[in-house]
Amino acid sequence: MRRQQRTCVRNRAYTSGAMIRVSPAMVKQAGRAEGMRVSASARQNFRVSRRIARSGRQSVRAALLPPQTMPVVTHAQAGSAGNLDAVLAIVPDNATAAAFDPLPESARWRELHARSRPRSGSVRTTVLANRRQTLAVTGYIGSDAGTFQRLALAGRMLKECSARTPQTIGLFVSPALAAAPAALEALLAAALAQAFQMPAFRARERGGNRIQRVVLLDTGRKPRAAGKDARVDVPFAIAAARGNNLVRWLGALPPNILDARGYHTAVATLARRHGLGFRWLNESALRRAGANAFLAVSSGNSRREAGIAHLTYRPPRNRARAPDVALVGKGIVFDTGGVNLKTHRSMLDMHTDMSGSAVALATLLALAELRAPIAVDAWLAITENHIGPDAYRPQEIVTASNGVTIQVIHTDAEGRMVLADTLALAARTRPRFMIDFATLTGACVYSLTERMSGVLTNRADLAGKLVAAGRTSGERVWHFPSDADFDSDLESKIADILQCSADGKGDHILATRFLGRFVPDEIAWAHVDLSSATRSGGLAHINTDVTGFGVRYALELILRHDILKGLKR
Ligand SMILES: [Zn+2]
Repeated sequence: MRRQQRTCVRNRAYTSGAMIRVSPAMVKQAGRAEGMRVSASARQNFRVSRRIARSGRQSVRAALLPPQTMPVVTHAQAGSAGNLDAVLAIVPDNATAAAFDPLPESARWRELHARSRPRSGSVRTTVLANRRQTLAVTGYIGSDAGTFQRLALAGRMLKECSARTPQTIGLFVSPALAAAPAALEALLAAALAQAFQMPAFRARERGGNRIQRVVLLDTGRKPRAAGKDARVDVPFAIAAARGNNLVRWLGALPPNILDARGYHTAVATLARRHGLGFRWLNESALRRAGANAFLAVSSGNSRREAGIAHLTYRPPRNRARAPDVALVGKGIVFDTGGVNLKTHRSMLDMHTDMSGSAVALATLLALAELRAPIAVDAWLAITENHIGPDAYRPQEIVTASNGVTIQVIHTDAEGRMVLADTLALAARTRPRFMIDFATLTGACVYSLTERMSGVLTNRADLAGKLVAAGRTSGERVWHFPSDADFDSDLESKIADILQCSADGKGDHILATRFLGRFVPDEIAWAHVDLSSATRSGGLAHINTDVTGFGVRYALELILRHDILKGLKR
């Protein structure tokens, strides 16, 4: 009983309420509606990524990948914002009436402001008297707020206007704010997230209007050149948002659409689209590599479709280099728990147990989109954890690809099994830094709730950077210890190591000690236990239960905190 609570317990759905039922006709109609919104080239990609998903009773046609369209980001003077559907303004919580002077109908904004004393994090809304009836949303922020608080405020402001489905929105930050550029970045991130349409399988499309144009409003006299804004790095914001959207899309797809075969197709399509190297290690290849820890988990599947995807991005003029960074992710497309079967509530949302692999994939794509000057690989461990006559059982002894023998204790601790071989295979390429993302343990959720994720590392001196990147990206992580003496809890009488301990104490720490057996000491490595991959009501600027947590964090860590500095091969 205790064990079932311990491992991979997540009870969040991006859809609330009844189960999704789909018929072929329904999905076809939904697909047509989506097709109308995308450009001709995107439509072609759509066709590539469309497939027939098999399920017991029916076949459904579905788009495995989201439309590629993003809102257009432009600039304008704040005074001209009266022609927009909504204007969102962040001002200090101690703002004076003058803060609203640059905005259209500033008297109306001042009146809203004067109603009562504002509190940091609060949001107020009114409607302007113009013909368009522009929605005016004010958000207040204190001088001590960090990135998370700014993103959370921006998320609330976007939620406030979502009922009116604005298509054009203006974003304004008071120059009086100490962190005005950071506040604008938060608003932009929230707007790009809100503009994204999550997968839906309803008979009739509802509320198709999305945000199509985001205008960064300016108080300066000179209009800015298109795409240039000293305050905010627009290409970075778009790449990060596209990554977050992809993680949320894949995480929300039903398990009969994003099964191992569907995921394989989706990854191959993305690799082709972005000009990345792509290799699929199927079960035969994994058998040759001795990856029996992965194969123990995939042996329960009814079809032989599991595998490890290996993607490579090399910067221009640097094709042959070994990777600087290896991104690794857990991609359990559905986790039943295996023969140690989960209960109803614990199993319900286990289609999101592939979130870690989606973070690794989306981070790689964002780095490629930004033409980052580093060589990056991604390794995605893709399989179901199913029951069946060939499913692995407790007390089996399994030899992983690096020769380490594992005594199986609980089949629901499958994430560390598939990651063991994936980390060992990735390590063979000698990356300078390796980081894995996984919805791995219930223990991490109990420790932190879903507001933060856990980070553990085999380099104590990297802990400061790892935590700082969480703080500055707004995707917060907490560092847990993983000292060597924890190993005595994983001592096996008959094998090199226990898969996990029989009781659940500190499972996020023991899981890290276990995974560390598959990472050579010479490689600097961090493990992110994604307790915040899903959260009821969303997190920070994200208003959907699947949060897409991890891409902002990884980009911040790699590009802005220079995690590679001082790391040698
Ligand atoms: Zn599990």
